[in-house]
Amino acid sequence: NHFRQFNLKPAVIEALTKIGFTKPTKVQGRLIPDILKGKDVVGQSQTGSGKTHTFLVPIFNQLAVDDHETQVVITTPSRELAAQITKAARQFSDAMGNEKVTIAEYVGGTDKQRQVRQLEKHQAQIVIGTPGRIKDLVETGVLKVNTVKTMVVDEADMTLDMGFLQEVDYIAGAMPDDLQTLVFSATMPAKLKPFLKKYLDEPRFEEI
Ligand code: AMP
Repeated sequence: NHFRQFNLKPAVIEALTKIGFTKPTKVQGRLIPDILKGKDVVGQSQTGSGKTHTFLVPIFNQLAVDDHETQVVITTPSRELAAQITKAARQFSDAMGNEKVTIAEYVGGTDKQRQVRQLEKHQAQIVIGTPGRIKDLVETGVLKVNTVKTMVVDEADMTLDMGFLQEVDYIAGAMPDDLQTLVFSATMPAKLKPFLKKYLDEPRFEEI
């Protein structure tokens, strides 16, 4: 039971070693192989289960480092959660050595004009943020998501409760049809089903 069993790139194994992770957690062991195969997944798991690295490890493994367009978008319902995911992603990127990736965090209550100016110059390979601000930047036409390969909807039930699922729907709707969609949620309310049906193709469903 080691991350080596997943056939990951050497730089990713090296990053995991540097961070101090050797064994995958239960949710990582169950879902990382499917995500690496390009499948859509729904992970019903709590915070503390290692769900952040369940998506970060395959994302860093799949990322085309020489391709400087937006490849991944991760939405989460609160600024605090966005900050936590961004911190974990930056730590992972730093631990990858020379395979540096660009990461941008877009949440509400921050300077939008600054983000617009930044996006007019370059896109980040991984975008992490709250649904409202990301939708806003996509709608403005500065954040280009037509190049996205993988979308992560973190805390989908909380996203629904806070009324942000429409924004996530808008963002996902602007992405290519062959998008890989990864949804994580502590609970599976019925109101989430239409979204899952719309964006997930024969998903692997894991309750951990
Ligand atoms: P999460 O559920 O993603 O918030 O992760 C909970 C905590 O477990 C975080 O502090 C992670 O850094 C840590 N963690 C995640 N995966 C592993 C792993 N495979 N080995 C050790 N710690 C981990």
